[in-house]
Amino acid sequence: MSDAKRDLPPVRDKERFLIFGAPAIGDEEIAEVLATMHSGWLGTGPKVARFEQDIMAYKGTAYAAAVNSCTAALHLSLLALDLAPGDEVITTPMTFCATVNAIIHAGATPVLADIDPVTMNIDPDDVRARITPRTRALLVVHFAGRSCDMDALCAIAVEHDLALIEDCAHAIETEYHGRKAGTFGAFGCLSFYVTKNVVTGEGGMVITNDPAHAERIRILALHGMSKDAWKRFGDEGFKHYEVVAAGFKYNMMDLQAAIGIHQLARIEPNWRRREQVWNRYQQAFAALPIGLPAPPEADTRHAYHLFTILVDEPRAGISRDAFLDAMTRQGIGVGVHYLAIPEHRYYRDRFDWPADAWPNAVRIGRQTVSLPLSAALTDDDVNDVITAVNRALA
Ligand SMILES: *Cc1c(COP(=O)(O)O)cnc(C)c1O
Repeated sequence: MSDAKRDLPPVRDKERFLIFGAPAIGDEEIAEVLATMHSGWLGTGPKVARFEQDIMAYKGTAYAAAVNSCTAALHLSLLALDLAPGDEVITTPMTFCATVNAIIHAGATPVLADIDPVTMNIDPDDVRARITPRTRALLVVHFAGRSCDMDALCAIAVEHDLALIEDCAHAIETEYHGRKAGTFGAFGCLSFYVTKNVVTGEGGMVITNDPAHAERIRILALHGMSKDAWKRFGDEGFKHYEVVAAGFKYNMMDLQAAIGIHQLARIEPNWRRREQVWNRYQQAFAALPIGLPAPPEADTRHAYHLFTILVDEPRAGISRDAFLDAMTRQGIGVGVHYLAIPEHRYYRDRFDWPADAWPNAVRIGRQTVSLPLSAALTDDDVNDVITAVNRALA
């Protein structure tokens, strides 16, 4: 790397550092949080129930169970499948560690199928190649908000009698052939973490059409206490509960739902703003020596959660990590989604995974950089990102 690159002047100074993934929070969210504080009911209560209703209406599912993270949603969904030790769950190496950790915590063995290098989603052909007599479930991730190939994946699930779970952490708005992501299999798991498309700070939800699964997840999410335990402090009179399972402390608070209700109400304008920013980046970077996201597929809806570029050192003239540094030094926050799962020491050591079994995910994980893509970005912010990318590559 040349010294000129090292000495890049900031596009934005320290006080104006562009925080990666900072959400668009409106006055409605702030007023609802204040009202919740004044109401005295901060914990799980009527606002969580309303947020669940709103998500059910948005996704068109019969049930939704709010929890305190997508990680919890994934864990409970996998537990509801009653997997036995040695059972295998196939997932993607191009995901956040929580996807794989949830499989491990549910007592099963994660098996990775490589990604398609263009869509960056799990490759159905490689899924087929990884199926064994112990395979029980398929946990797919709609990477960056782009739908997986659900026709192919659903066909595999039916053919091999596998449960299907969709990690929709990037994919609240995602649709595939007119159908919403999260409604194809047994469970859809949503994230409302601060950087996601709809935020509650921390938060998640399981959506399902199966009443028994929904009931079990509700109970497991609140200590294993019997039905509607949160109502025990309500105005309908004290309700005794019974513990029916060794559950978890995974419930969402009304304080969190207060934010989510208004975030969900603005989901369309926020999505349109991210689409604009996405298109602006595509145009501005078209001639640069970097890889750009594939255009959205016909008859699908992309959720535009991440804008990931690929920095391949021989072509770009700068390494991925030097590019990350150059962006940060110019005052622009960036992310990496993701270093491939088998590149993390814990998984490699525990599962004895060979380094070369997932070439597409490993290569992309070493080249990928996520640029800011939030509805909170102003046109000036977007111009600053574009300037900084051009200078880092110059
Ligand atoms: C963010 C994320 C999660 C975890 O979500 P939390 O709500 O933070 O637990 C899981 N999977 C993917 C793909 C994610 O991006």
